[in-house]
Amino acid sequence: MDGSLRKTDVSCNIVKLLQGREKKAEIGNILQQHSQFTDALIKRLGLEHELEGHQGCVNCLQWSSDGRRLASGSDDTNVMIWDPFRHRLLKTVHTPHIGNIFSVKFVGSDDSLIATGAGDCRVVVQSVEQAVRHQTPHLDCGCHMGRVKRLATSPDEPLLFWSASEDGLVIQYDMREPHECASTKSKVFVDLSYTSEVKCIAVNPVRSHLIAIGANDCFIRLFDRRMVKTSTYRINHTNDLRKRTPPEPQDPRCVQYFAPGHLAKDARGDMTYKLAATYVTFDSSGSDMLVNMGGEQIYLFDINNPRYVNELCVPENASNTKNVRPCCNIYRSRSNGTKITSNRKLLKCNKKISSQPCACDFIERARTLFNRKWTGDVYSAARDYLHVIRNWNDNKDAYIGLIQCLIALNWSDEAYHWLDYFSSNFVDYNDSAQIKTLHDDIASCKTKKDEEINSEKAFSDEEKQLRLESRDYETHFIGHCNTTTDIKEANFLGENANFICAGSDDGIIFIWDRKTTNIATALWGDGSIVNCVQPHPSACLIATSGIDPMVKLWSPTGEEGAENSRVVVDPWAAIEANQQRMVMDPFENMLANMGYRVSPLEGQDTPTCRTS
Ligand SMILES: [Zn+2]
Ligand SMILES: [Zn+2]
Repeated sequence: MDGSLRKTDVSCNIVKLLQGREKKAEIGNILQQHSQFTDALIKRLGLEHELEGHQGCVNCLQWSSDGRRLASGSDDTNVMIWDPFRHRLLKTVHTPHIGNIFSVKFVGSDDSLIATGAGDCRVVVQSVEQAVRHQTPHLDCGCHMGRVKRLATSPDEPLLFWSASEDGLVIQYDMREPHECASTKSKVFVDLSYTSEVKCIAVNPVRSHLIAIGANDCFIRLFDRRMVKTSTYRINHTNDLRKRTPPEPQDPRCVQYFAPGHLAKDARGDMTYKLAATYVTFDSSGSDMLVNMGGEQIYLFDINNPRYVNELCVPENASNTKNVRPCCNIYRSRSNGTKITSNRKLLKCNKKISSQPCACDFIERARTLFNRKWTGDVYSAARDYLHVIRNWNDNKDAYIGLIQCLIALNWSDEAYHWLDYFSSNFVDYNDSAQIKTLHDDIASCKTKKDEEINSEKAFSDEEKQLRLESRDYETHFIGHCNTTTDIKEANFLGENANFICAGSDDGIIFIWDRKTTNIATALWGDGSIVNCVQPHPSACLIATSGIDPMVKLWSPTGEEGAENSRVVVDPWAAIEANQQRMVMDPFENMLANMGYRVSPLEGQDTPTCRTS
């Protein structure tokens, strides 16, 4: 990539490239090269333009498949179609919705139809021309009984799409067939109405038969469409009771659950805190699934080589491991006088672990995480210790560390099994004070656990089994806060998806390096909350939106070293505030949202709408 790429190059040359793309295949290749986000370009990201026109929060953004148009949906019930490179409004599509638009998608092979889902529980499909002439839309569906939160289209069947609603249903639409709400023809793809509200949905771009669904819990359900039996559905608007044919019994093999291990274990019984998957997406290879977990962090799952949530539970025969590389012991030799903050320590460990890790890097990271104790930290530390045990099985510190983590997680049975295993393999330590303390800690942890009221939810045995067999995450990304709205996105960024981006309750756009999981940059993106972060399908361009009534476009701007007022100067202050905000109760949170502002964008109005 040419280091001297300027703002004008990005906004103007890409127009020429897109125009030329049809004529010459090579130009397409140049565009591909331009789209490659590098670390240097990420660091130079700045505000390119604000697209103004909406009269309310902008809750959803969607690029057309060729990247020439951007659609935005808003609380003002309008969809606006923009030319992102000329910064021009092309069309305002008035929709028949009477509630906030939460999702907009281009439908049809030429992206000629606009599908919207909204707070009025309706799903609408119309062409731009229809909307301009105020004609009846192709589809105006009132089948849902809850707010429609997200739509998903299929990459290989352009007239097929799905709607995810808080009534717990996912409805399937095929624009080749008529849809009559009153008839029994409506197709319910998934019915979770007895347990959950559906919040988000995504179709795998490579294996389009895989459809991921997120709900108001910690589980992402990955359905195989080939095995799902759609059921028919009929509502009765005259009373509150839904009259519909019961859902078809599903083959349990049609779905695989994914959840961060520490959450999955807690969620087997009653949920103690509020969680909701607010966004799910796949990378372009279709093998990695990214989830923005409301009330928690952002998690990346490898769906082809998943980890098992119960891998921490039973000590395996770790002493069989061969070819153990000796530890360099670099951290032990370091003097105790160095004052290094835990966050700085973690950045270093993450970097080392992503290149040439040694046992001590994992131990150092695990210890730091265990002491920091942000949401998910203790579980993450436990996984680091387990990794050391598997690869350096004589590392006594890893066993002790893992057992301490399990006690902190309140997993007394697992802690006891590991302690038992450790005692039988390291007999020399059995009389040590440390082992005695661990025994006492497990005992008190067990008593505490027994005293807790066992309030297991009345899930079916099938549901319990699916939750128990959830697949665990691969890596996670920490920095943002996602508790105030339930439409916050997280996306892969760059041609090779080497970055992860997401908005936050504090108005910041966070971008992480995918490999190290460290923050690459943080930008002030909204006066209050950033919900949508949508990278352009091929160019170095990102569209964002939130509470402010405008769409913002971001691109590498200015020269290296030039001042960029949008860059968050002290991201760690914001990150720490976000972690505290995440564990506050909702009332405290509301107060924090009113009072907390470290944004340099002074004088902005208080937001008038909250999308929750
Ligand atoms: Zn309908
Ligand atoms: Zn080492």
